[in-house]
Amino acid sequence: MTDITLTVLGCGSSSATPVIGCDCPTCCSTNPKNQRSRSSAHVQIGRQHWQIDTGTDFHQQAIRARLNRIDGVLYTHPHADHLNGIDDLRAFCYHQQSHIPVYGHAATLKNITSRFDYAFLPASPFWNRPVLQAHELPLNNGHQPVLTIEDVPIWQFGVPHGHWICSAFRIGNLAWFTDLNYLDDKTIEQLQGLDYLFLDCLMDTAYASHLSTEQAFDYARRIDARQTYFIHMTHTLSYESLLHRCPPRCAPAYDGLVVHSHYA
Ligand SMILES: [Zn+2]
Ligand SMILES: [Zn+2]
Ligand SMILES: [Zn+2]
Repeated sequence: MTDITLTVLGCGSSSATPVIGCDCPTCCSTNPKNQRSRSSAHVQIGRQHWQIDTGTDFHQQAIRARLNRIDGVLYTHPHADHLNGIDDLRAFCYHQQSHIPVYGHAATLKNITSRFDYAFLPASPFWNRPVLQAHELPLNNGHQPVLTIEDVPIWQFGVPHGHWICSAFRIGNLAWFTDLNYLDDKTIEQLQGLDYLFLDCLMDTAYASHLSTEQAFDYARRIDARQTYFIHMTHTLSYESLLHRCPPRCAPAYDGLVVHSHYA
């Protein structure tokens, strides 16, 4: 049996909360659960430490969660709020005196390796940049695990996110489904039996590349995880107001939330 611990490093949308220059009630709230950095998670699987995305806030998130090791990164897609903290993987390469493998589907890796080409060069003696190795994960819609980490299978789902295909991951009985606007019946079927589901829930208003609250509530009910947490929320959703109207066994996530699961 392998223990799995997921820490929500960030559950905010691309603008984060508070939004720069905004004085709405959520942005002015003193409840720390209303301060949301960009979407990201850290997952400890047995003795291994895996990172989902390295967004704009990755440095602060790593300090806050006292991260001291990263064995690999799973990238969902190359939007700035999920990728642009990539340079701060450098500290981990230096501490570990090693490259870090990064994983994603082919189009994601093509984008990352062209925009951050310097991060994929051989190590220099100064460790003055990240030293990463790209590994492609086949888009097989969750039919077979794409990785096995400490005996825990990782399934990848290519989910629509506007014109992009975003990778969503099931890690044992945890699932991280950020940045998507639709889930098909087959995927919902493959997500049965979850302990924890983390699901995109942008705002009340319908949006082309994300789930609205109504859509997120509907998918959460159909997937029926033991507990669902909503992520990638904008400042239009305050923690308190969303909590009060969530379906049973659903709640908004918050930065720093930690959940434990295990896989036998
Ligand atoms: Zn995003
Ligand atoms: Zn605001
Ligand atoms: Zn995105």
